[in-house]
Amino acid sequence: MYRRWPRVLSGIFLCFVVLFAFTRSSRAQSAAEPCVKPTARERTALVESFATEKLWRWQKRLNLEDWKISVEVARANDLKAHTLGNIHWDTDKKTAVIHVLDPADYRLPFADVLQDIEFTVVHELIHLELAPVLAPLQRNDANRREEEHAVNHMTDALLHLDRER
Ligand SMILES: [Zn+2]
Repeated sequence: MYRRWPRVLSGIFLCFVVLFAFTRSSRAQSAAEPCVKPTARERTALVESFATEKLWRWQKRLNLEDWKISVEVARANDLKAHTLGNIHWDTDKKTAVIHVLDPADYRLPFADVLQDIEFTVVHELIHLELAPVLAPLQRNDANRREEEHAVNHMTDALLHLDRER
């Protein structure tokens, strides 16, 4: 479905960060240490920095640079059931926080988790983009569901275009 290069890039990023963390935590350890499997805590930290990097890229692409947005990793218990993330924003202050699911609660290979995290970031940014349009609308379950489908389709299309380049 996707071409392979984004996964390869994620792999390089992963190894780099793990090596960096490794050499910082243990000076005796050689920098040439092979890439080790990250611990759950390291995966959470990797997801946070990966999501922050993606956030900034997509924020620029979606012309949301005047917003101060941050990403936080959340455990499944802290999210609504059957969701992979959420966004809370303050229109007056132009601030927002995106929550993405902790990799510990995913049942996917880590490379796929990273792709899914990017999906969540783009998805939540599109919600933010649509917020002024939808604000006057009387919200109900049906139009929330429609919004959700539309946001998923737009996210899918954008990520396909990006990953197929
Ligand atoms: Zn959504």
